[in-house]
Amino acid sequence: MSQPPEASFQRCIDPACGATFGLTEVLTACPKCQGLLDIAYDWNRQSVPQKLTAFERKYATRRYPLHFSGVWRFKELLNFAPDDRVVSIGEGQTMLRPESEVARYVGLPEGTVFLQYEGLNPSGSFKDNGMTAAFTHARMTGARRAACASTGNTSSSLAAFAAATRNRPAGERIEALIFVGSGRIALGKLAQGLDYGARTLQIQGDFDDAMKQVRAVSTRLGIYLVNSVNPFRLEGQKTIMYRVLEGLNWEAPDWIVVPGGNLGNSSAFAKAFQELKALGLIARVPRLCVVNAAGADTFYRLVNEHGVTWNGGKFDRAKIDAFYKQMDAEDRHAHTVASAIEINRPVNLTKCLRALEWMNGVVLQSDDQAILDAKAVVGRGGLGCEPASAASVAGLKQLVEKQIVSKGERAVCIVTGHHLKAPDVTVAYHSLHGEDLRHELGRYQIRENPFANSPRPVANDLNEILRILGDPKETGSWDA
Ligand SMILES: *Cc1c(COP(=O)(O)O)cnc(C)c1O
Ligand SMILES: [Zn+2]
Repeated sequence: MSQPPEASFQRCIDPACGATFGLTEVLTACPKCQGLLDIAYDWNRQSVPQKLTAFERKYATRRYPLHFSGVWRFKELLNFAPDDRVVSIGEGQTMLRPESEVARYVGLPEGTVFLQYEGLNPSGSFKDNGMTAAFTHARMTGARRAACASTGNTSSSLAAFAAATRNRPAGERIEALIFVGSGRIALGKLAQGLDYGARTLQIQGDFDDAMKQVRAVSTRLGIYLVNSVNPFRLEGQKTIMYRVLEGLNWEAPDWIVVPGGNLGNSSAFAKAFQELKALGLIARVPRLCVVNAAGADTFYRLVNEHGVTWNGGKFDRAKIDAFYKQMDAEDRHAHTVASAIEINRPVNLTKCLRALEWMNGVVLQSDDQAILDAKAVVGRGGLGCEPASAASVAGLKQLVEKQIVSKGERAVCIVTGHHLKAPDVTVAYHSLHGEDLRHELGRYQIRENPFANSPRPVANDLNEILRILGDPKETGSWDA
């Protein structure tokens, strides 16, 4: 059914280096030049459908796990593994939905704004799309332990996949080791790792510190690293774009808007479109907008203030190094309510520079107030998302305000994580007023909550309840 994996390999993204490596080598950087790695395919030796509609045939056989998975049903486009090595937990059953409330909020006509809702994944974020690919590769290499540093969702996903291997024969089990920063991880995410049985180390530092430590520990102890420096993960994340196309009847939208943390997702999206274009499966590549949080704006500043570009692989490394040196000198740390993108040293920075070139992309930043307001608007549509995800909607609003996106263009915002990942922030936003709000969310520069839907305290008394429900002076929109 599938091609032999020799028709795919690992390749350094630096065109001047271009070194290639076999699939079973476990690498997170090019050993020759330290560049990031891609998974590359010899398309002549892969059997790729001639039309994207051909993938629809797999709906009829969805009892087969590889056809049920929203990732592996596109296996011909990420065919690096034999079918019997694939580790799947039913990831990628997600949906694209037009959202009129969001369209109104950003100032675009109804029917032209879509949310790609990745919160529906088994562990509640898009990370499962990548983790299934990383676990499949880990299994191909015989790994017994897998580790990650995480702001939360990568660890939730890792823990869920590790749990799924627990019933396998001893030689095929993969144990999860999680490094998180202290006090920075959303409670829902920490809870998942603990519940799924992952070994969890809480480093006294932030994500960037945890990342540094997990890299060192993985190298020292030979543990398989599943952070997004892992090029296999990004292969799985390409499928989010295939599903967006699927949701739009295989017609590319004009814009893809995505929050940027470690910049793996945005990089994967560009690779997806680059390959589809090269294969003649799409006519047109959408534009990309990556949205940083203002308190974690390394990529935004490097691109917009320092003019760093991919430049065909000859990007200005000195400018990037100088930026980080200055950041360290000022002891500047990432700080945002959008904890999933609270990252100052994005590991896929160079790949994402390339993504901007491939998709004629732009980078924006959004402050925490705009992120939480956008989050409340997403919530009103009945889906809801965690704070980081709403950066995409806040970003689209800016694109319209700056007239970069015009009416008539179709935009897709990637909703990266589930509503229930960080409910404390949501409740605080909705129920606090004035000084209380400033006190609770003040460290994130949240000053107001224009979309608040506050619970109304009421006595445990039927007449009082009826009085409030019938009182027009009460602000609730509910008609008594
Ligand atoms: C990981 C994550 C992001 C950031 O994605 P990157 O690939 O690291 O840029 C955004 N939102 C959520 C909910 C995440 O879990
Ligand atoms: Zn190289």
